[in-house]
Amino acid sequence: MANSIGDVFHCESCGAEVTVTKACTCKECGVTCCGKPMKAKDAPAKKAGGCNCCG
Ligand SMILES: [Zn+2]
Ligand SMILES: [Zn+2]
Repeated sequence: MANSIGDVFHCESCGAEVTVTKACTCKECGVTCCGKPMKAKDAPAKKAGGCNCCG
Protein backbone atom coordinates (compact mmCIF):
# COMPACT_ATOMS: atom_id res chain seq x y z
CA MET A 1 0.00 0.00 0.00
CA ALA A 2 1.29 3.43 -0.84
CA ASN A 3 1.92 5.86 1.95
CA SER A 4 -0.27 8.91 2.21
CA ILE A 5 0.31 12.15 4.08
CA GLY A 6 -0.38 11.79 7.76
CA ASP A 7 0.16 8.04 7.92
CA VAL A 8 1.95 7.11 11.12
CA PHE A 9 4.23 4.09 11.42
CA HIS A 10 5.30 2.62 14.73
CA CYS A 11 8.27 0.39 15.53
CA GLU A 12 7.39 -2.32 18.01
CA SER A 13 11.04 -2.89 18.86
CA CYS A 14 12.22 0.58 19.85
CA GLY A 15 8.99 2.57 19.93
CA ALA A 16 9.99 5.00 17.20
CA GLU A 17 7.21 6.69 15.28
CA VAL A 18 7.34 8.07 11.76
CA THR A 19 4.81 10.38 10.15
CA VAL A 20 4.54 10.55 6.37
CA THR A 21 4.86 14.14 5.19
CA LYS A 22 5.06 13.42 1.47
CA ALA A 23 2.82 10.88 -0.18
CA CYS A 24 4.19 8.35 -2.65
CA THR A 25 2.66 6.23 -5.36
CA CYS A 26 4.42 2.94 -4.68
CA LYS A 27 2.37 -0.20 -5.13
CA GLU A 28 4.19 -1.76 -2.22
CA CYS A 29 5.70 0.59 0.28
CA GLY A 30 6.89 0.18 3.80
CA VAL A 31 8.98 1.85 6.45
CA THR A 32 11.64 -0.19 8.15
CA CYS A 33 13.16 0.24 11.61
CA CYS A 34 15.38 -2.11 13.58
CA GLY A 35 15.49 -4.26 10.44
CA LYS A 36 11.78 -4.93 10.58
CA PRO A 37 8.80 -3.36 8.82
CA MET A 38 7.13 -0.73 10.95
CA LYS A 39 3.47 -1.16 11.82
CA ALA A 40 1.00 1.37 10.48
CA LYS A 41 -0.99 3.09 13.18
CA ASP A 42 -4.61 3.89 12.48
CA ALA A 43 -5.15 7.57 11.98
CA PRO A 44 -7.70 8.82 14.51
CA ALA A 45 -9.74 10.42 11.75
CA LYS A 46 -10.25 7.05 10.13
CA LYS A 47 -11.76 5.46 13.23
CA ALA A 48 -15.51 5.28 13.47
CA GLY A 49 -16.64 8.28 15.45
CA GLY A 50 -13.02 9.17 16.08
CA CYS A 51 -11.64 12.58 16.72
CA ASN A 52 -8.20 14.08 16.40
CA CYS A 53 -7.72 14.89 20.08
CA CYS A 54 -7.77 11.44 21.60
CA GLY A 55 -6.87 7.93 20.69
ZN1 LIG B 1 12.99 0.56 15.80
ZN1 LIG C 1 6.53 4.56 -1.27
